[in-house]
Amino acid sequence: MPELPEVETVRQGLLQGMLNKTFDDVLVRREGLRYPFPEDLPTLAGTTVVDIRRRAKYLLLDLDDGRVLLSHLGMSGRYTLFDSDEAAAAKPLLRTVNGGVPVSSFGDQTGHGGKHDHLEFIFTDGSRAVYTDPRRFGIVDLFPSEEEATHKLLASLGPEPFDPWGAKDLASRLQGRKTAVKLALLDQKIVVGVGNIYVCESLHRAGISPRREAGGLVRKNGAPTKRLEVLVGHIKDVIDEAIEAGGSTLNDFASVDGTLGYFAHQFAVYGREGQPCEKSGCGGVVRRIVQSNRSTFFCPTCQR
Ligand SMILES: [Zn+2]
Repeated sequence: MPELPEVETVRQGLLQGMLNKTFDDVLVRREGLRYPFPEDLPTLAGTTVVDIRRRAKYLLLDLDDGRVLLSHLGMSGRYTLFDSDEAAAAKPLLRTVNGGVPVSSFGDQTGHGGKHDHLEFIFTDGSRAVYTDPRRFGIVDLFPSEEEATHKLLASLGPEPFDPWGAKDLASRLQGRKTAVKLALLDQKIVVGVGNIYVCESLHRAGISPRREAGGLVRKNGAPTKRLEVLVGHIKDVIDEAIEAGGSTLNDFASVDGTLGYFAHQFAVYGREGQPCEKSGCGGVVRRIVQSNRSTFFCPTCQR
């Protein structure tokens, strides 16, 4: 599942392929994914992409007519960008197989024979962006920008783990919480999009047990403890490094799914159950436990 750094990598890739381009048409191949597609998707034609932002794991494409095209990759969503030469070479644009279900002719490049290429965005310069999503948990929405602040998917999100967010903000949200710090950091109302892998890595770097009570990292007067300040520094570092690793793998018109970011990144505890802790002088062994149905990897020797 793409996490925040991977989605940020996708955002950077889409910026390269979509910024300042004007939609010519949108091909819609099914009713929807997690939710039905907005009926007015075809009205994108004639609008221009003026910016691409990210809020948590939502990609927000700002259009020149004042609307926002929201896209969430769900479990398995990805975009593939084709320049005009590549798109022209893939003609005919639609093949019909399996009882009349139209299949993308880009199937060789996007995988799965094209049958999971649910949306195709065609730009006036002939380039295309194909959205592929085998598990169909992705989300697409289209709404006026003034509705963004109250949008049902965006309104209750916590702050992003970037500047100017800091230990003070986190302390105010953790104060009095009895829940385990690992679970609190995965709560999107406390901080958005850090994600399971990066929470495990940050706690390991900070030497904090994932089972520690979240409120215990806050002083009685509501100020962050030294340990919480250290943890916040590591969260920012881990996210920054992952974005950098993902960004360095991007090329123009490459497949934009962010998974390359995972491979480029070396994890110290995540997925390393039973292997020696990499912290120098620790000598511990990485353990896996399950918290709230999700795997936690940590070193019981140096994480207290
Ligand atoms: Zn250790």
